[in-house]
Amino acid sequence: LTKHTTHDATKVELLVLDVDGVLTDGSITLDHEGRELKRFNASDGLGMRAWTRVGLHLAIITGRTSGAVLHRAADLGVAHVIQGSKDKGAALDELVRVSRVDPSRMAFLGDDWPDVAPMRRVAYPMAVMNAHERVKARAAYVTERAGGHGAVREAIEHLLRARGLMDRALDLYDAR
Ligand SMILES: [Mg+2]
Repeated sequence: LTKHTTHDATKVELLVLDVDGVLTDGSITLDHEGRELKRFNASDGLGMRAWTRVGLHLAIITGRTSGAVLHRAADLGVAHVIQGSKDKGAALDELVRVSRVDPSRMAFLGDDWPDVAPMRRVAYPMAVMNAHERVKARAAYVTERAGGHGAVREAIEHLLRARGLMDRALDLYDAR
C-alpha cells in the first residue's frame, strides 16, 4: 500500500477508531466471570452519530474482543468492526477490501504502538493527547483531549471542518 507523506483530511470519508485508550480511557474492567466492562463517552457518541448522519462512515479496529464494543458499535452505526486483531496493519488492509474505501480516504485515530501500522497506511493519521510518543510522532493531528474524555469528538469536529461539513452537522441539531 502507498505511504502518504502529505496528510490530507479533505477527502476522508471513513474514520477508523481504536477502542482501548481512544473510545475509552484505557481502563479494562473485568467482572467475576472475566467479561469486560467498558466506559464510553456520550460526547464522542454524539459526534460519531453526527459523522454518519452527514453521510460519512465509521470503522473500529481493536486488538481485544468484547461484547460491549459490539453493542456500542451497533448503537452508533459503526459500519465495520474488526475485533481480536493481532496485526492492525493487516486489519486495515482487510478493511480496505470489505469497505471498498481507498486508504487515501481514510483517517485512523490511535493511542499505542499497534496503531502505528494502520496509521502509516491511511491519508490522515491521528493520535489522542495521551498516546505514546511514537504514535504521536506519526500523527498529522494530535487531539487536545484524552482518550475516553472527548478525543473522538474532537477528532470528528476537526475532520468535519477540514471537509467543510461542520455547518451541515450543526444544522442536524439546529445548533449553528
Ligand atoms: Mg489502544
